[in-house]
Amino acid sequence: MLIGHYAVALASKKAAPKTSLGTLFLSAQFIDLLWPAFLFIGLEHVRIEPGNTAFTPYDFYDYPISHSLLTVLGWSLTVGFTYYALRRYRRGAWIIAAGVLSHWVLDFIAHRPDMPLVPGVNIFVGLGLWNSVAATIILEGSLFAVGLLIYVRSTEAVDRTGRFAFWSFILLALFLYAGAIVNRQPPSVQTTAIGGLLQWLIIPWTYWIDRHRKFKEVKK
Ligand SMILES: [Zn+2]
Repeated sequence: MLIGHYAVALASKKAAPKTSLGTLFLSAQFIDLLWPAFLFIGLEHVRIEPGNTAFTPYDFYDYPISHSLLTVLGWSLTVGFTYYALRRYRRGAWIIAAGVLSHWVLDFIAHRPDMPLVPGVNIFVGLGLWNSVAATIILEGSLFAVGLLIYVRSTEAVDRTGRFAFWSFILLALFLYAGAIVNRQPPSVQTTAIGGLLQWLIIPWTYWIDRHRKFKEVKK
């Protein structure tokens, strides 16, 4: 999943208005930001295998540190506590911890049974939404639309940058998603890792967006 995780980050703004959108993206995408770094240093592995599922050309055969349920629980607590220690915003800390965990749940829906529960234990789970390209696009696209709607309704741009930075980001996300649908034959694991590391750019970008938009107070 890609924009499905973005949907969680966008929607979370309504639940934790004082948390920056950048932090919300960092949490919802946290384990997919670790993954390319772990690939790069050889701690985790992936194989290119077009047709592994209809949607993805990857065989995720070894990613227990970034993507096992147990370690993701650990990442979730670590990120949540770190945020609480820095910001003392309890509500935000809970939403962030939930955001890290939500990534695993969405991946569990999408992946074929290749997601480890515990590192080193031979039990793998996954509901396999990716076996259908159409179902993936419909479900993930709807999630994204809902997340986008919630975010747009609960925030407003304070200046032109607030509009430009936000909508250019949304367009780029959709463009990259379309690219992932079309490109079923990635050139190498190394380019995948580099592409994955480039995803870190969305973090400063979404912090930038947050500084130019404000939360709308809901009138009762
Ligand atoms: Zn993932």
